[in-house]
Amino acid sequence: MRNVLLLGASGSIGTQSLDILEKHPERFTLRGFSLGKRVHMIPDFLKRFPSVEYLCVSQAEDAENLRKKYPNLKIYHGDEGLVSIIEECPCDMVVNALVGFAGMVPSVTALRHDRILCLANKESLVVGGSIINGLLREGKGRLLPIDSEHVAIAKLLSCIKREDLSRILITASGGSFRNKSRAELTHVTRDDALAHPTWSMGAKITIDSATMMNKGFEIIEADVLFGIGVDRVTPLMHAESYVHSLIELRDGTLLADISKPDMHGPIEYALMETEVDFTPVKAKSLSDYAPYHFHAFDPERYPAVGIALDSHRRGGNSNAILNAANEAAVYAFLENRIPFLQIEEEVRYALDTLPFMAEPSLEDLIAVDKKTRRVVNEHIGG
Ligand code: NAD
Ligand code: MG
Repeated sequence: MRNVLLLGASGSIGTQSLDILEKHPERFTLRGFSLGKRVHMIPDFLKRFPSVEYLCVSQAEDAENLRKKYPNLKIYHGDEGLVSIIEECPCDMVVNALVGFAGMVPSVTALRHDRILCLANKESLVVGGSIINGLLREGKGRLLPIDSEHVAIAKLLSCIKREDLSRILITASGGSFRNKSRAELTHVTRDDALAHPTWSMGAKITIDSATMMNKGFEIIEADVLFGIGVDRVTPLMHAESYVHSLIELRDGTLLADISKPDMHGPIEYALMETEVDFTPVKAKSLSDYAPYHFHAFDPERYPAVGIALDSHRRGGNSNAILNAANEAAVYAFLENRIPFLQIEEEVRYALDTLPFMAEPSLEDLIAVDKKTRRVVNEHIGG
């Protein structure tokens, strides 16, 4: 039995994680959860999970009202609240489904307190990969990724001898603008960008998929998780999102993980600590599968991937600048303050402008994150 704390319960990954917890009542007890501002969702979650005793929300005012309404619950708020709930909630597993840099300190806190960390928040790994790997090397906690490509890669790597691996092929749908040229991207709108063809996800990752900064982040994530080096991870365009990733062996054999695009599968694999029962599905014939396709990744069409990988190769605080500039620019685009193509320009501007630091501490990364957002927002103006 695992006692679970779920961070970001109201989001796309959060709500699907609740489905998985509900599916296995013999395995999981939900002890606490956090969400941001959508406090209207709390009564339903408490009804479904009466075991919850710990709750964290973003705003102090919401926390105050909730304390009156639920005197038996321990209620926290804000960034400090997220740290306290991890420290005080008697859980052995933390599911981090927060979006953005807000998930970074919670990831580190969970590992420092020896929790099993099921991690959807890829920004934690992009910004704090060395700190997180340092904690894991010290034997603190355990890390299980939730991102579908990384679950696929973990499954495939578990089937081979590591020395047989040649490279990883990480698939990418190409996001909502995959059928448009760069010239056609000049006037695309927020609503166009939010209509992802194959996945239904939160707004930030949907925009990251359209720029493919998401794939840049995922290649970095693969390096942090599997220690393979970004140059041995190749993006591969695959519009249907059936093949979640492939690995290529030294003899040229390709192994793939194939299923319909539904995050419940990867979430379950992580929460069950890889002990899932596979149900083989018998296809009547291979033609039962809808056709699917692959084509080569074009780095000029999606420059964000190259920007992300150059930043990762530079190391130090570069990925903190990369991530913060991207977040600030994505939210500016979502608020109609900048056009779509300016997202990449703002990230380049920040990486060129902010000073390099070779070995940043967690506190340094927090400061770099704040400063970068300020610099980018000043540059955007308005
Ligand atoms: P989402 O926007 O749907 O949900 C984010 C959650 O975090 C919400 O509960 C929100 O209230 C909370 N939150 C946001 N900012 C916060 C803050 N400052 N303080 C406290 N809480 C805050 O996002 P999502 O699509 O579920 O994505 C979550 C993470 O999972 C992201 O890192 C994303 O890249 C990753 N991911 C998502 C998917 C997907 O299918 N949605 C797939 C793979 C990886
Ligand atoms: Mg993914």
